[in-house]
Amino acid sequence: MIKITKFGGSSVADAEHFKKIKGIIDADPARRFVVVSACGRRFSGDSKVTDLLYLVDAHVNYHVSCDDLLADIGQRYFDIADELGLSYPIREEFSAFAERASKGGYTTEELVSRGEYFTARLMAEYLGLPFIDATDMVAFHHDGTLSMKRTAELVKKNAREGGFVMPGFYGATKEGKVKLLDRGGGDISGSILAQCLEADLYENWTDVSGFLSADPRIVEGAQPIPRITYEELRELSYMGASVLHEEAVFPVRDAGIPLVIKNTNAPEDPGTIISETAKEGDSEPIITGIAGKRGFLAINVARDRTKSRIGFMRRALSVFERYGVSVEHMPTGVDQFAAVVQASDVKDSLYSLVSDIQEEVEPLEIEVVENLALIATVGRNLRGRPGISGHLFGMLGQEGVSVRMITQGCDEINIIIGVEEKDFDLAIKTIYKAFSDENGIVKTSDLEPVRAPF
Ligand code: ASP
Repeated sequence: MIKITKFGGSSVADAEHFKKIKGIIDADPARRFVVVSACGRRFSGDSKVTDLLYLVDAHVNYHVSCDDLLADIGQRYFDIADELGLSYPIREEFSAFAERASKGGYTTEELVSRGEYFTARLMAEYLGLPFIDATDMVAFHHDGTLSMKRTAELVKKNAREGGFVMPGFYGATKEGKVKLLDRGGGDISGSILAQCLEADLYENWTDVSGFLSADPRIVEGAQPIPRITYEELRELSYMGASVLHEEAVFPVRDAGIPLVIKNTNAPEDPGTIISETAKEGDSEPIITGIAGKRGFLAINVARDRTKSRIGFMRRALSVFERYGVSVEHMPTGVDQFAAVVQASDVKDSLYSLVSDIQEEVEPLEIEVVENLALIATVGRNLRGRPGISGHLFGMLGQEGVSVRMITQGCDEINIIIGVEEKDFDLAIKTIYKAFSDENGIVKTSDLEPVRAPF
């Protein structure tokens, strides 16, 4: 049995957390393959080591002294090593790094990667496992994209059967040039490793007990999601439910490896299992989760009825493409359609984009609706169940929330509504209430045999 255990920044923030990790690793002999992020925040207002390293890089580029900054970063590692009585020569290693860094001796990627490197060095000694550098495991092409083929070869060659600790977030090109993944990319490193080692499970350890069915800042007591499919997770993450890097699902999903989100501070909590299918027999929740984002706007384009319908949308959309703006949704009517986009994507170009649409399709009218929020109600069990959306819209109506836009894909796992930003919190609370009772999200078994649920 092979379990990949990946610990995020908050899970390796200090010596206390290292101890928690040791407890987690010792509790299960299958947990021998460990991936770590760089030390994260220890308390609110604290800084992540990765952010500090980017700051060091900026100082170096602007020829400003960064000695204090480097001293602060070093101290974090020294504190961990001292408290745990580790013998890795962290002071020597770090001061050699700091000296070279302050002279501009590293590329940005090399410099920033040292956050995970030193964390992994200390963790390896503390757990009594060998250290394997990510540059010997994770391969990049020169353009900065991952080479899965060569990564698989390297893992096969360099991985140690008995287990090891590997830094996340980076790898190297064939020539040994360090390359970074996206921010939060340690999740991807763990997922890649799980795929290459054909793991049975990918455990992603963080500081929350999995995904919650709604944002707890909006819905008090929102329930954790016990199981979620990859498809549902994509929908929820896209709408802002962020616990895991979005790209981290692909390697394990392709390999059919389940992924579980666990809490380093509460290891006994079941967390959220993410897998291809998520059947729980009769006790399936009616919805899986609700997530939403503010900051959208809709550009409504009404057709001049004297002109041909054919090519109208394509021509209008080509303008968005030219501006490199992604159209998130497109509710349509007989003679008009709306393109819903992120307001930040058109922050500097809205005026010229609208006038280019005007020129391109000569519409009857163009209207921009600002301050929209989108809310996705996601659930594999929405599929084929009449009455769900009726209930959702009925409840929103009762609460006086005006729905400005609706979309539902034919796969029926997602109902997306657009509301005015001022109604965002109320709409989410109302939808949660619509599908829950005092025991949390209502189960499908509670709805049977009545088909229309409420
Ligand atoms: N340390 C990196 C970051 O802060 C990568 C990670 O934590 O996964 O983005």
